[in-house]
Amino acid sequence: MKHITTIISDIDGVILHNNALIEGAEGYIRRIQESGLKYLFLTNYPSQTRKDLKNRIANAGVDLPEEAFYTSAMATAAFLARQDGKKAYVIGDAALTHELYNVGFLITDIDPDFVVVGETKSYNWEMIQKASWFIMNGARFIGTNPDVAGPKGFPACGALCAPIERITGKRPFFVGKPSAWMMRAALNAVDSHSEESIIVGDNLNTDILAGVQAGMDTVLVLSGYSCADDLGKVPFRPTHVFEKAGDIDLF
Ligand SMILES: [Mg+2]
Repeated sequence: MKHITTIISDIDGVILHNNALIEGAEGYIRRIQESGLKYLFLTNYPSQTRKDLKNRIANAGVDLPEEAFYTSAMATAAFLARQDGKKAYVIGDAALTHELYNVGFLITDIDPDFVVVGETKSYNWEMIQKASWFIMNGARFIGTNPDVAGPKGFPACGALCAPIERITGKRPFFVGKPSAWMMRAALNAVDSHSEESIIVGDNLNTDILAGVQAGMDTVLVLSGYSCADDLGKVPFRPTHVFEKAGDIDLF
């Protein structure tokens, strides 16, 4: 078995269903913590801060430190920090603007370098118009994550980007999974390398594809989005498959 130093784990469908722990997840988290390995819990959802996530897991009955979490909003800030330009027009919630402020960005609707779309319930006509006009005038189009829908038809970032794509004819760069950038940013955050890290996720097309693209070993759990039948529908395979995170015996 290969030498593992780092476990990157998805949250929804791996340790939580809605806000309840999945059977065996508590033991999985405890074993990660007791193993002495480096770890991060990763989510594409950009509208919760580390504090929010810590609180969500605590309400489900498990204590994890804030530093245990990494979001697509954090990865987006890490990405933008390395680009030219420090002004962004943002469609998103406070968790996203907070991360952008942290890397020195000015949030503005005057001549922005970037249009950054996350997720927000305050999305409206004026935002679509402004974002489109800025992109037509050369602002770079960034989305935190390509997910189109959450539970109960909840419009996610990919859906909020869609009208702006139609108007401008431009597609956003999506920072979140399955982009390899998200995995690189997460690994950088814990000072780890892909060859010695595994990703545990429930979605073949986001978690597992992200791991494959970043050169990591991948672990699919069947407790969430993807089922065993889906394995035949994609041109790549996870390194390991388990029914649920509590069954993983790789560390
Ligand atoms: Mg998931």
